[in-house]
Amino acid sequence: LSERLQSAISQVGKGGRITEADLKQMMREIRLALLEADVNFKVVKTFVKRVNDRALGSDVLESLSPAQQVVKIVDEELTALMGGEHVPLNYSKQPPTIIMMVGLQGAGKTTTVGKLANYVSNDGHKKPLLVAADVYRPAAIDQLQTIGQQLDFEVFQLGTQANPVDIAKQAVEQARRNGNEVVIIDTAGRLHVNEELMEELRQIKQAVQPHEILLTVDAMTGQDAVNVAQAFNDSLDITGVVITKLDGDTRGGAALSIRSITDKPIKFTGQGEKLDDLDVFYPDRMSSRILGMGDMMTLIEKAQRDFDETRAAELSDKIKDASFDFNDFVEQLDSVNKMGSIKDIIKMIPGLSNIPGLNEADIDEKDMVRVKAIVQSMTPHERENPDIISQSRRRRIAAGCGQTLADVNRMIKQFNQTRELMSQMSNGKSKGMRKMMNQ
Ligand code: GDP
Ligand code: MG
Repeated sequence: LSERLQSAISQVGKGGRITEADLKQMMREIRLALLEADVNFKVVKTFVKRVNDRALGSDVLESLSPAQQVVKIVDEELTALMGGEHVPLNYSKQPPTIIMMVGLQGAGKTTTVGKLANYVSNDGHKKPLLVAADVYRPAAIDQLQTIGQQLDFEVFQLGTQANPVDIAKQAVEQARRNGNEVVIIDTAGRLHVNEELMEELRQIKQAVQPHEILLTVDAMTGQDAVNVAQAFNDSLDITGVVITKLDGDTRGGAALSIRSITDKPIKFTGQGEKLDDLDVFYPDRMSSRILGMGDMMTLIEKAQRDFDETRAAELSDKIKDASFDFNDFVEQLDSVNKMGSIKDIIKMIPGLSNIPGLNEADIDEKDMVRVKAIVQSMTPHERENPDIISQSRRRRIAAGCGQTLADVNRMIKQFNQTRELMSQMSNGKSKGMRKMMNQ
């Protein structure tokens, strides 16, 4: 989505004045971009009309930087479309807070129960109790138990023979007795929305009166996710949505439609399979990510704090004349490390997360340690001259640091990709970066 929107916006003269016809063309492109991203057509229609009306009603046409004005309007309207403000998790004043997780099979409920338990416990709510109320598949209980063990949280279960409603009730009673501050109930899903499932979920809701009913939907299912959300909301009056697998979704259609169709806030997004891959959802940040601007300001602030400016300038010269070497690479990795997790950084740089091989899932903090070990077993001459590293040298390097040849090859490939990417950026080939630099 972001590529398409960016190009829609950048087609209009950079800084030059635009006509009403230009604006019309731009709206057409934005409309297409949204439809292509699988945003609900009704949502698209209203959205484009709002942007268009605002653009015409303001002094965009007269202004000196109309494209930027339109970007601003689109940004604001996208944010509004996703609810405007961040809506936090509703903790009960009187513990335990009861959270019921619902959704179709495979949407990510059980995983999200674990992630959420992790989140609430880091958020100061002690001893979350995980409840296995999906009794139809024995594997579901095991899966939750494994997650519980990993996080060291207790899992409440009564096996596969018990009634889910009883399980939920007894779990809440136990939580009251044991002082668990949050109870998170994992419920069963089906492949499709059906009445039997809804009835069971309604009974659980009735029995335990949850403070939150969070629907998990899979971002990759696009428009379907929206229909599912509508069905669950009609039946259960959900309190919020968790969009999972956003790490694999480049289109963003679900995130954009769900709020306006269901009028229920997106509270979290799942960004990977690991139990800390849960992000609190902020409409404005999501909007700038979609627009490809990333959380650029945050990144720049962080970078300025942690990265010596003159050194940055030197590096950028090196990148330009392609003398960027392994010493610089390690130094960069170190400074990036200081700035926070690589995953966070990549998310903040426009377009970077869309590059195959560089997406968040592929980057592991442990890789950094491995990369450094490999560089350390290079000779100083090799570090300064990456291009001389032949196969036989690679074999020696691998032996020297106890890694496999494949590890070394992969790392050198990554280095080359980074170098290539950086030189593209500094030559202004990346739209996102160029836009940022013009601002
Ligand atoms: P459930 O049937 O709704 O309980 O779904 P599960 O929690 O068992 O998840 C189904 C699959 O989706 C599992 O393989 C999870 O690891 C995966 N999954 C869940 N959330 C995410 C996410 O945010 N990102 C990615 N990439 N995978 C996820
Ligand atoms: Mg499950």
